[in-house]
Amino acid sequence: MARKPLMAGNWKMNLNHVEAVGLVQKLAWTLQDKRHDPAKSEVVVIPPFTDLRSVQTLIDGDKLELAYGAQDLSPFDGGAYTGDISADMLVKLGCTYVVVGHSERRQYHDEDDNTVNAKTIQAIKKGLVPIVCVGEGLEVRKAAQHVEFTLGHVRGALAELTDEQIGALVIAYEPVWAIGTGEVATPEDAQEVCGAIRDWLRRHHGDATADATRILYGGSVKASNVGAIMAQPDIDGALVGGASLQVDEFAGIARYYD
Ligand code: PEP
Repeated sequence: MARKPLMAGNWKMNLNHVEAVGLVQKLAWTLQDKRHDPAKSEVVVIPPFTDLRSVQTLIDGDKLELAYGAQDLSPFDGGAYTGDISADMLVKLGCTYVVVGHSERRQYHDEDDNTVNAKTIQAIKKGLVPIVCVGEGLEVRKAAQHVEFTLGHVRGALAELTDEQIGALVIAYEPVWAIGTGEVATPEDAQEVCGAIRDWLRRHHGDATADATRILYGGSVKASNVGAIMAQPDIDGALVGGASLQVDEFAGIARYYD
């Protein structure tokens, strides 16, 4: 089964709701202008929570060919969890995707494999597609433990999920040392780990699951390097941070097939 490429822009803690509308509008115009073929890549914006309502109004109102999602969710249904956002709230806002286990959440909010697993399960239960982030830091890479370490993240995040559930979610391999640093893993480095993830899926969840699950690469992806990354057999798209805030860059990434 062909996996549809996915280009997801994680805005992190940037842009207020007015700026968000401006960026989405310009992105839609640029993609239209360049005659982007939505069959060739699905384009997703992932703004901060506070922008979601404005982004929803614009995308739905103008019937733009963009999907959107959130950067995190609570593993709980609702209640006394000050500051947290539930899956139901995101669904009500029309989100399709939600990022889970981003390295910045693991680092600054102490999210461990159990938390990431609980959030992944909650997202799926509520009908959201989790983009589950996995990947090693620099010390692990230097010690050549990156494949085993990343597979540990995958194992932890996907615990208790059925083959069908795993086939429908997205995994993003993001080596932490390449995030926001300008330091890109070579396409071969990215393929090594993405290929190992797909092999692991094949061994533990069968061919159908391994062939269906989309695996993204993330870490300083730009319009100039996305082509070589996308040429790798086990990479189905990109999770993009910094470059997703620049319309021309992100539109260029979406049009990796040029
Ligand atoms: C990210 O935050 O997921 C990311 C990959 O960031 P950047 O593209 O800026 O490295």
